[in-house]
Order: sequence, then C-alpha cells, then structure tokens
Amino acid sequence: TTSASATHDAHLPLLPAFDYQPQPYKGPLADEVFAKRKKFLGPSLFHYYQKPLNIVEGKMQYLFDESGRRYLDAFAGIVTVSCGHCHPEVLNAIMEQGKLLQHATTIYLHHAIADFAEALASKMPGNLKVVYFVNSGSEANELAMLMARLYTGNLGMISLRNSYHGGSSSTIGLTALNTWKYPIPEGEIHHVINPDPYRGVFGSDATRYAKEVQDHIDYGTSGNVAGFIAETIQGVGGAVELAPGYLKLVYDIIHKAGGVCIADEVQTGFGRTGSHYWGFETQGVIPDIVTMAKGIGNGLPLGAVVTTTEIASVMAQKIQFNTFGGNPVCSAGGLAVLQVLDKEKRQSHCDVVGSHLLERLKSLMHRHEIIGDVRGRGLMVGIELVTDRKEKIPAKAETAVLFEKLRELGVLVGKGGLHGNVFRIKPPMCFTKDDADFVVDALDYAISTL
Ligand code: PLP
Repeated sequence: TTSASATHDAHLPLLPAFDYQPQPYKGPLADEVFAKRKKFLGPSLFHYYQKPLNIVEGKMQYLFDESGRRYLDAFAGIVTVSCGHCHPEVLNAIMEQGKLLQHATTIYLHHAIADFAEALASKMPGNLKVVYFVNSGSEANELAMLMARLYTGNLGMISLRNSYHGGSSSTIGLTALNTWKYPIPEGEIHHVINPDPYRGVFGSDATRYAKEVQDHIDYGTSGNVAGFIAETIQGVGGAVELAPGYLKLVYDIIHKAGGVCIADEVQTGFGRTGSHYWGFETQGVIPDIVTMAKGIGNGLPLGAVVTTTEIASVMAQKIQFNTFGGNPVCSAGGLAVLQVLDKEKRQSHCDVVGSHLLERLKSLMHRHEIIGDVRGRGLMVGIELVTDRKEKIPAKAETAVLFEKLRELGVLVGKGGLHGNVFRIKPPMCFTKDDADFVVDALDYAISTL
C-alpha cells in the first residue's frame, strides 16, 4: 500500500509495513460525500480535517481512504475500536448472529444477551453483578444518574470540571467543558475543582482537592447528595489522569453524604490503561455503579451500566426498558470483544506498548519546547502543547497546524482539552511498538518543520 508521502525527504517517517490490500473502491469521492454531508447532515463545530478525508475501509489499526492510501488510526474512531477495525473474530460473531436473529426485545428470552451479561459481570469486582444494556455512553450515564437519584432519594450530583459524560440533555449537565454545553437548565449538578496534576491549582495534592468536595457538600448542598461521577483518566478533557489517591478520599466523602459513586469507564475500560482492566482500579476503589460504551462493542452501538443488586432493586419500581439495548447482534459482537481482548492478551499489550510510547514521547520533550506535558497510561495518552512551558499557554494554532501535518504524514490523532491543544493517542489495542515509533517520529518531524 501507499507510503506516507510522495516526497523524497530522507528524514520523512514512513508507516510500518502492513500486509493487507484494501478492496478497489468505486464509490463516491470525498467532494461528493462532503457536499451531501453539508446538505443533509446537521451542522456541528466538531473538528474536521480542512481537506475532507473519505475513509472507505478499515483493517485492525489502519484506515484506508478512497485512493487506497493507508493511515494509522491513532484515535480508534474516538477511542471506540478496541480490538481493531473489522477484527475477523468480532466480525464473524456479528455476521453469524445477524444470520439467525437480528432483533429480540426483552419480552423474550435470548441467549446472546444473557451470555454477554454473564461475561461482563465476570469482569467486575465486588458486588457489581447486575447489568443493563443501552446504546451509548450518554444513555449509560443517564441511567446511572437516574439510579443514583432513585436509590438515595437525593437530587444533587457532583462531577469534575473538565469532564465529559455525554451529549444528551441530562448528561450535558454532568459534562463540564464549555465547548460541549448549551444554555439549558441542568438541575442539581455541582462541578468541583479538577484534580489535574498538570493544570490543577493544588498540583497532585489529592487531599486538598478532596477537601474541596467536602466544602462543596457542606456549603453548596443540603449536606446530602445523590452521587458523584468521574472518569479516572478524562478522555475528551485531554487524557488527564486524576491525582493519585483522589477517588479513595472522595468516595468516602460521598458515601458519608448519602451518595453513590459512579465510574465512567466509557474510555478507560477493557484493559486500555494497561495496568488494570478498569480505570477505577488504578485508584484502588470499587464504585457502586459503572458505565461503559465505546470499546465494549469495537464500534457497534452498545453501552452498559453495571451495579449491585441492592441499587438495581430501585429500578423494579417501574418498567425499565429500551428497544435496542442488548440487541442480539450487538451482544454477540460485545461477547466476542471480551473474548478477543483476553485471548490476544491486549491488556498487557497496552501496558508494554503504552509504556514504550510514553517513554519515547517524554524524551521528545527535550527536543521540543512546545510539548508542555506528556501523560496517560497504557494506550490512553495525551500530549499537551503550549507556547510557554512556564505559563502553560495553550498552543491552539500550532496544534491545529500539526493535526493537519500529521494527517499528511499518515497518522490520524485526536484533539482534546478545553482549548483543543492536546493530542490524544488512543489507538485500537492491537497498535504495535512500530506504530508507536511511527507516531513519535511523525510528531517529531511535524514539529521540526512547523
Ligand atoms: N463518557 C465518556 C467518558 C465519553 O468519552 C463519552 C463520549 O465521548 C461519553 C460518556 C458519551 O458517550 P456517547 O458518545 O456514546 O454517548
């Protein structure tokens, strides 16, 4: 397949070899697709490449455009493709189930849903054994918030500044990044200071951040709350890992205030952090409710909420139902994802490749002043760009230029953070050390030629 660029620069990084030929593409070209998109799909400020990129095929950690050009997908379709694009075993499970039965509501029994719930529950610690299937991360967080409020009889929810928990009308309230919010009523939601070791006012001092949560409860609420929700590494917010020890302290505070603790594992789950299967384990806590989506289905629309029997019992007050949650095809795909991740030992793979990537990126900081921070765990990595290391001024314009340059070199990364100045490297979990080297070399080259 085509290499990174047609120019003859000796320093130009080249994509690692990959033995796969994409199908000849005969469909509509980028301009036509883009024109239709502009005409028929709603507008959004979400970033696109300046020159529209028409992706027509995916294979494992690679994507192909209409001309057959190969790109390294270092963002996994927004941290969603866990096993790899069109992973053969996941694809086979989806196709086999699709041939037999594509839809069954919860009115009937169907083994695909039950088998998947059993497999998912086996991955959870403590008493987290009751599974609800939904269709997205936003829906999972909606349900978790509803459970917290019903179970505790309280309304107030606490979430962290810089968090992203969804784009539905209630989860927009939990989200705390102005880029995603609308001026709509949000209800009883309190956003507390983010325990961000790089930008946070108390550095890595978990105790001081936790005290802020207690103060917020004491001075900003009746003294009781419904729940607390957090990602252990904030994804959309720019791969920000919470100060070590923070969740343990805060979970205690929340429980004392009568609330429940929700871990949003939409991005951090399924071994992506390398060191643990779930992000919350990196902080040594067991939540009362866990929400998940994205990687759970390798790209299928699928989400889940897992909780305890006790909390789940409140849902028996009314009918709890959604039409597509636990769809047999999605369930068969989700079960295959869990099996593939185990069989291919992807968690330890993320650990090894992620550590290598982090180490190489950190050494790149010696060469490029613009790299203000490199952080993350496993294959959930953030590179924050600043124009001034001391003042930490976001290098917004430079990040936008580098984003385009990286695409030209053949690597697709994500952008994140309030100012869009953080590159997010969160590839499919089959991403190799050679791929990691390519990302670093491409970034090095792109910054050097800025
Ligand atoms: N929670 C987190 C941590 C997310 O990153 C996202 C999506 O980016 C969501 C929730 C919402 O998921 P969805 O887009 O599937 O509704």
